[in-house]
Amino acid sequence: MGTLVCEICNVTIDHFEDEKVTVLYTKCECCNNSKKDNRKLEK
Ligand SMILES: [Zn+2]
Repeated sequence: MGTLVCEICNVTIDHFEDEKVTVLYTKCECCNNSKKDNRKLEK
C-alpha cells in the first residue's frame, strides 16, 4: 500500500493501491495555502 504524506506537517493525506509499501511526500492543501500566504506577507 502506498501512502501520501505531507512533507511539511507529516500528516497522512491519502492512501493508494501499490504492490510495494511506498511513501510519497507532497504538500497538503493546508500547508500549500499557508506557505503562499506567508510568502505574500513576508515580501
Ligand atoms: Zn501539511
